[in-house]
Amino acid sequence: MHYLISLFIKTLHMQVLKFGGTSVANSENINKVAAIIRNEVQKDRTVVVVSALGGVTDLLLSAAVLASEGNEQYKEKLAVIEQRHLDTVKGLIAPAQQSSLLSFVKKSCNEIEDVCNGIFMLGELTSRTRDRISCYGEWLSSQIISAKLKADGISNEWKDTRELISTNSNHTAAEVKFEITNEKIKKFISGSGSELFVIPGFIAADQNGITTTLGRGGSDYTAAIIAAALDATVLEIWTDVSGMMTADPRLAANAHIIPKISYQEAMELSHFGAKVIYPPTIQPVMSKNIPVVIKNTFSPSGVGTTIHNGFAHENTPKNSDGSIVRGISSINNISLISLEGSGMIGIPGFSKRLFEALSNEKINVILITQSSSEHSICVGIETASASKARQAIDDTFVNEIALHKVEPLKVETDLSIVALVGEQMKSHSGISGRMFGALGKNGVNVRAISQGSSEKNISAVISTKDVGKAINVLHEEFFETTYKQVNLFIAGTGNVGSRLLAQLSQQLGFLEQQMLMHVRVVGLCNSRKMLIDEEGIGLLRWKEKLEQGNKAAISEFVEKLIRLNLRNSVFIDVTASGEIAGYYGKLLEKSIAVVACNKVAASSEYFKYKKLKDLAREYNSQFLFETNVGAGLPVIGTLNDLLSSGDRVHRIEAVLSGTLNFVFNNYDGKRKFAAVVKQAQEEGYTEPDPRLDLSGTDVMRKVLILAREAGQKIEMSDIQNHSFLPESCMKGSVEDFYKAMEQEEPHFKKIYEEANASGSKLKFVASYSSSPSDSSQGTASVGLQHIGPHQDLYHLYGKDNVVLFFTDRYKEQPLVIKGAGAGAEVTASGVFADILRAVKH
Ligand code: ADP
Ligand code: ASP
Ligand code: MG
Repeated sequence: MHYLISLFIKTLHMQVLKFGGTSVANSENINKVAAIIRNEVQKDRTVVVVSALGGVTDLLLSAAVLASEGNEQYKEKLAVIEQRHLDTVKGLIAPAQQSSLLSFVKKSCNEIEDVCNGIFMLGELTSRTRDRISCYGEWLSSQIISAKLKADGISNEWKDTRELISTNSNHTAAEVKFEITNEKIKKFISGSGSELFVIPGFIAADQNGITTTLGRGGSDYTAAIIAAALDATVLEIWTDVSGMMTADPRLAANAHIIPKISYQEAMELSHFGAKVIYPPTIQPVMSKNIPVVIKNTFSPSGVGTTIHNGFAHENTPKNSDGSIVRGISSINNISLISLEGSGMIGIPGFSKRLFEALSNEKINVILITQSSSEHSICVGIETASASKARQAIDDTFVNEIALHKVEPLKVETDLSIVALVGEQMKSHSGISGRMFGALGKNGVNVRAISQGSSEKNISAVISTKDVGKAINVLHEEFFETTYKQVNLFIAGTGNVGSRLLAQLSQQLGFLEQQMLMHVRVVGLCNSRKMLIDEEGIGLLRWKEKLEQGNKAAISEFVEKLIRLNLRNSVFIDVTASGEIAGYYGKLLEKSIAVVACNKVAASSEYFKYKKLKDLAREYNSQFLFETNVGAGLPVIGTLNDLLSSGDRVHRIEAVLSGTLNFVFNNYDGKRKFAAVVKQAQEEGYTEPDPRLDLSGTDVMRKVLILAREAGQKIEMSDIQNHSFLPESCMKGSVEDFYKAMEQEEPHFKKIYEEANASGSKLKFVASYSSSPSDSSQGTASVGLQHIGPHQDLYHLYGKDNVVLFFTDRYKEQPLVIKGAGAGAEVTASGVFADILRAVKH
């Protein structure tokens, strides 16, 4: 009597532990499992469910497939299987006690070989035989573990799950008959005096005792079935990660553990690809309200994840970091099938027939969308079932197709689903907007969308090649503590490029700590060499590394950049190359931001400039070129802010050439004009060809860009240039230019002396005036002017630039932007600011 009571009480306190394939992959890992069990059995009566040694189910099935194909290599697979089990036994159990277990392994392996030989001879592999073969994985592992525990003095009872779990005969994915199963489990446990049971997961039997299996990954389910039947206090899933994570850690390095999650959310995540739990697992434990704890065999002290009964009565529904989304998951190998046709409109029963056709073929529907016009239904299924689906649906609608009421089924492959999961999403607006916005900004094209009315899940069908990027982009968008990874591709390592790299290198720590941005330079290219390193190029030794790179070819650089398909990619052009500017469109079309210090694109023909602006808008990418005017000064940004806040520009007066300012501020008729120009070049203020600066062309380009940004459709040829540079200086090479300047010294001296005599300074001024009647019409000119001490432009020193904006709001006194307008350091910092702007966008 006393014994019966204690047994009854113990039965109420039962826990179920499941150890997955990696946890039991070899003797070293099984030793860890044994230590966990030793600790756990002290708490409660325990059922331990184990998977096959990691990889063994795959090996068994691939041996069977090879055999069925008449390929004798199946024998090699079998040898590997045998050796792994023999090694495991030898690593776990003292030699004196090994022999019976070793002969058990050998005997089982002989049986496997017999079955495979049969398959080889028949050349046929049915799903029933698949189950017959794959059951050996758990059969072997569970007996080895049971024996190991016994050898360690932990007494336990091994039981064949086929005697406990009854299923139908749907081999490889059998459905459980719960009534019979629950009875059998309860009866067995209550009839046994053991404190610890070890049983194989995954396997079951049909009513005739024929082996079935519960589907790949099914040991989790076995454990849940047992836990539910016994009203266990807890189901612990011991695996190789420290819990259910915000995303698959193999795809998102930033993923973190979710400490608590509801059954519903866990179910959604696992259905949408979070492999850590086999999807059917949740149902039986949820109906009994049994908490599931996911823990790491290799780090047992971690808290893991507790899956429990929602958050309905809790005050802290959000994640600890405030995020609303609980997790993000993905499934690959998806096909989208679409049934379209005018004949579908308004006629009931089309969808019913479609889904019946799929269900008759046992095709699992993962996602459904139907356009409100009822013109098309789109269904996401596993690619493996796609051809079966095509056949079934085309057969079902054969008449409608013949009458052209319905089109033959369209099937698209190489797709994946990404899903956001979280019960709180329903009470927050704008989640899907943010989701699709973030994907769009990164050039991830969404093929279909589905959001359940419960809003626990928003899923999108995308191309499989974009999955890694999409998961990371969404993780960065929805988990605030996540670092945003920024991937830079820099063309040009001259003055500005190398300063930019130095500034980046110095600022990486700040960006990481203060802005949660992990910035990496992934690509570097100059006129000789190029290098792409997906892990990021170390910025302290970039020169050396680039030297070891490949011969430069910008087309290849851009191709690779696009192919890498990294999130938050920014292409930075710090060259003056027309060829490189020719690639911006291609990049913007891929939603890759372009930051250009290079003026060629923005100052080329208007239609080219316009095309790039339009592409950036169309593809939601950023085309930024703040440094084209006034180097690091915020000129274009300010102009854009004025315009977008409703101001109108009347006039712009500006000194925009750092070089010319430097030259005229330093030239006093004593030192030769050519020498002053040389100094400006040596100090890095000039364009690579200084004539662009001296002739006024560079200033023309700048005022052109300002006028365009102010809304004017204007070409270089529309700008008047009152050049001071004699014709003779414009011919030949840069060297000829210096010689010509020397010869023209009297000309320059005269210009200087005239200004000096009138108490004025020489300033090369760019002016733009909009037409009072039409702000899209205006005139622009550049030229050398005498500026008197009372004029705004007089007090301008060194290489400074100044821009005066006269607008509706700044009528009498202009808005003035003034400061260094040339030089590698400030230009690099302007480029840097554009990069951050592009990424924050
Ligand atoms: P076991 O063999 O223990 O059953 P699985 O390989 O079936 O383990 O599942 C664990 C794996 O699931 C992890 O190693 C991880 O790579 C993958 N996984 C996918 N998504 C997630 C996620 N959201 N959280 C945790 N792990 C995940
Ligand atoms: N061994 C089976 C599989 O690999 C079941 C499991 O591990 O859960 O699918
Ligand atoms: Mg698993």
